[in-house]
Amino acid sequence: MSVFSHSEFHDHEQVVFCRDAASGLRAIIAIHSTHLGPALGGIRMYPYASDEDALTDVLRLARGMSYKAALAGLPLGGGKSVIIGDPHRAKTPALLRAMGEAIERLGGRYIGAEDSGTAVADLKVMSETTDHVCGTLDKEGLDGGTRSGDPSPATALGVFLGIRAAVQHALGRDELHGVRVAIQGVGNVGRRLGRYLHDAGAELVVCDSWGPNLDRAATELNARAVEPEAIYAQDVEVFAPCALGAVLNDVTIPQLKARIVAGSANNQLAEARHGELLRRRGIVYAPDYVINAGGLIDVFHERERVFDTDSYIIMDEFTLNTSSHDSTIDGVHRIPQTLSAILEQAEREQRSTQAVADSIAEDRLRG
Ligand code: NAD
Repeated sequence: MSVFSHSEFHDHEQVVFCRDAASGLRAIIAIHSTHLGPALGGIRMYPYASDEDALTDVLRLARGMSYKAALAGLPLGGGKSVIIGDPHRAKTPALLRAMGEAIERLGGRYIGAEDSGTAVADLKVMSETTDHVCGTLDKEGLDGGTRSGDPSPATALGVFLGIRAAVQHALGRDELHGVRVAIQGVGNVGRRLGRYLHDAGAELVVCDSWGPNLDRAATELNARAVEPEAIYAQDVEVFAPCALGAVLNDVTIPQLKARIVAGSANNQLAEARHGELLRRRGIVYAPDYVINAGGLIDVFHERERVFDTDSYIIMDEFTLNTSSHDSTIDGVHRIPQTLSAILEQAEREQRSTQAVADSIAEDRLRG
C-alpha cells in the first residue's frame, strides 16, 4: 500500500497507523494541516473492505476538513480518523479507550469528534483516555431546550441558509415559498433541513433507502416520497444531497433538472471535473464543505481550548465557552455570506464554484 504516492495524498502532515492487539483496534489518523490550528475532524468507524479503502477515505476526508475550517474562518486545521471495523459488532469499551489513547499520543494536534459509526456515547468512553475529543457536552439547543453533542441541527441550519442564498443568486427569489426541493436522505440532517424548508413554504420531494426515515419525513413534512434512483430527475429547483458522497457524477448530472445543488453530504463531486460539468449545464453548485460547515462551527464553539497560537500546545484545560450558543449561531449565519461571495466570483470568472472555493481555502492554508 503506497502512502506518499497515493492519489489522495496531498502533502498531509502526518498519517498515523494505530494498532492495539488486546482490543483489536486498527485505525488510521490523518492530519492534513495544522497551519491554521489543531486538526479537528470526526472519528469514523466502518467495515472497510481493505486497508487501502480506509486510507483513501481518511486522506480525502482529512483534506476536506482543512478546507472546511479555512472557509468557515475557524482557527482549526483539518484531520480525520477511521477505525476499521463494523460499528455494530466490533465496538467495545476497550477498543474505544485504545482509540482515545492513540489520539492522546498526538498531544492535541488532532481532536476527534462524532462521525458515521460513532456516537456521543462512544466519545464519552474515549474521553476516559484522552482530552482531545469534542462534541460530548449537553448544551443549549438552537431552538431552545437541551441537546446532546449532535452537530446535525447546526449543519441543517447552515444548509438551509445556504439554499436560501443560492436561490436568491440563481433564481432572484428572496422567498422559498413554492420553491421545489428534492432531498436525498432524510436522516439527522436531511430531516431537519426538510423541517426548515417546509416551514418556509417549500414543496418537498424526499427519498431514503431506510423505510422508517422515509415514512417519518413524508408524514411530518407533507413531502412526496420517491424511490432513491428517481430523486435525480425530479422536476425541482433545488437538489439537496444529504446522504452519500460521490452522488454528482457522469451518470447523475445529465439527469438533473434542478438549477441548484446544495446539500449536506461530504464529497458530493465524484471527481473535481464534475464541478465544471455542473457549471456548463448551468447548474449552481454550493460547494459541500462551505454549506455543511455548521456542525464543525458548532463543535468548535461547544468547547474552546486555549491554544498557544504558535505551537498549538494546550495551555489550559478544556473550558466551557458559556457564550457558545451565540457564537455558533453567528458562525452559521456567516455561511450564506461566504457562499454568496463564492457564487458571485465563480460567475464573474466563469469558473466552477468548487474551483473558486478550493482556491480561497488553499490561499488561507498557505497564508
Ligand atoms: P444520517 O446517517 O443520519 O442520514 C443519512 C440518511 O441517508 C439515512 O436516513 C440513510 O438511510 C439515507 N441513505 C443512505 N443511503 C442512501 C441512498 N442511497 N439513497 C437515499 N438515502 C440514503 O447522516 P447525517 O448525519 O444526516 O449526514 C448526512 C450527510 O451529511 C452525510 O454525508 C454526512 O457525512 C454529511 N454531514 C453531516 C454532518 C452532521 O452534522 N451530521 C455534518 C457535515 C456533513
